[in-house]
Amino acid sequence: MKVDFHVHTRRSVDAVHSPRKMVKKARDAGINAIAIPDHSRLFSTSEAQRLSRESGLVVIPGIEGGNIAVRRHWIALGIDRQITDTRTDLVLESILQDSGVSVAPHPHSQLGYGNYAGLGFDAVESLDGSEPGSNKQVMNIHRIPEVAGSDSHALSMLGFCWTEVNVDETLQSVLESVRRGLCRHAGSTVPFFDLFCFYPLYIRDRILRQPVAALSAARQVIRDVCRVRAYESSCRNCRMST
Ligand SMILES: [Zn+2]
Ligand SMILES: [Zn+2]
Repeated sequence: MKVDFHVHTRRSVDAVHSPRKMVKKARDAGINAIAIPDHSRLFSTSEAQRLSRESGLVVIPGIEGGNIAVRRHWIALGIDRQITDTRTDLVLESILQDSGVSVAPHPHSQLGYGNYAGLGFDAVESLDGSEPGSNKQVMNIHRIPEVAGSDSHALSMLGFCWTEVNVDETLQSVLESVRRGLCRHAGSTVPFFDLFCFYPLYIRDRILRQPVAALSAARQVIRDVCRVRAYESSCRNCRMST
């Protein structure tokens, strides 16, 4: 079966299409299962089950955390709780406690954990559809279980890369296959044109048509950036004073 472990919907501040539309496009592209780890917003088990019943696809609940602009990202799959920890070790502990699967997405980009194996992630995203440059450099240098995801923020970006795995089409089987290292990346990164199609849509749908919401989202990102900066500088001060 084909699984896309990294799809965003308009519930993320930086994506444009609804979960229903993304799932339909994935099905049309021959994908059998998709995970929806929206930025800082949990796609819950009940929402995933509802969409799964409607579409016939396995829909994996989850969240992508870490500040969207300045902090490295992590993905939690198969959990049903918003994780708010700032420290990576606490995040990974929470995911483990909730029997979820932790993934280090786009590990070789500025917003990724290059030392994913040492930190204890369950899996690494060895192919991220939106990160052509970083994927060319390294795929999975630490040789831990891998997954692949398109990191789609619009319909045009779906269907170019996926994960191949041969298990039953159920949520638990798919999650277990990640832990057991049975997944293999397949396909390629998103071609430039299909990647670029996202931007005019984003400007039209999220900024021009919803200026108040866009402003509020931008404020939230800036507030988060300030919070992260304050946290980091307090850590530095603590280290200096000890
Ligand atoms: Zn990310
Ligand atoms: Zn993402």
